[in-house]
Amino acid sequence: MKPKEIKRFEQLTRVYHFGKIQDFMTFYDVVTRAGYTITDIEDYIETKKATIQAKLLEKPARPVLKECPECQKSMSLLRVNIDSATQTGDSSKSVWLCMNQDCMNTIYNTESVEEILMKAGKHKENKNSA
Ligand SMILES: [Zn+2]
Repeated sequence: MKPKEIKRFEQLTRVYHFGKIQDFMTFYDVVTRAGYTITDIEDYIETKKATIQAKLLEKPARPVLKECPECQKSMSLLRVNIDSATQTGDSSKSVWLCMNQDCMNTIYNTESVEEILMKAGKHKENKNSA
């Protein structure tokens, strides 16, 4: 990968702490050493995504909590600064992440996921699933 590509790749994956990328590298090493190829990994991911998609279709759709101010697609709310893998270098407690791969807008919040969901009146009973 050329330096310019590395920069673009890191920009795209900036919400993932390097620890997460290292986890992926370890995963990649383990499976390729066992004889699997990157194509097998892609195939596995596509199969898993299809399974998850099928399960999601069984559940009622979750309401969109926030629309991206940049592209108007839905944003996902994630916890940050909860462990070594989610450090942002500031005092943010959560982040809105645009789900549009071409946008990837990120908005850091000083309020926690629970506080935001509570305000929105959509606090989930299972705190571990967010
Ligand atoms: Zn967006």
